[in-house]
Amino acid sequence: MPDHIADALEMLRTAKTTARDALAMLDQITGEARPDVPADPRAMLAEAKRKLGVVQGLHLELAHKLLQLEQEHREQHQMRFDDPVYWRQMPGGERLGPYCTICWDATGKAITLSNSPFRGHDRWICRVCAKTFFSPGARDALEASASAHDRGPGRR
Ligand SMILES: [Zn+2]
Repeated sequence: MPDHIADALEMLRTAKTTARDALAMLDQITGEARPDVPADPRAMLAEAKRKLGVVQGLHLELAHKLLQLEQEHREQHQMRFDDPVYWRQMPGGERLGPYCTICWDATGKAITLSNSPFRGHDRWICRVCAKTFFSPGARDALEASASAHDRGPGRR
């Protein structure tokens, strides 16, 4: 998120200086600045027009970035952590997911996990970072089988 804000501020700075340059050119053409009327006012008008086009483009990009930020903000507020994964809580009470906590925390991308049940309990796998998440039931089953194995013959 801070990257978006830094980008937006940089765009605003560029838009501001470009618009200022274009206005200065127009002042020169209309004779409101010294030195008076440039040698080639048509070329200067074309350049001023080009600069204003750049400013307009930056404003459109900024508007797009703001919409993106709003969308991310909304998505973040819908995410709920329910050990060990994220779920998206919809306004109607519906719950979507689960989503990978590693990917969401690192990149802000909601990656849907696929379920690969372990001994009748949910076990989710991320197709992006390959992390496996055990539901509390699957964790208990895993621990039970690990400790049974520890007590088995031939150990210690
Ligand atoms: Zn992941």
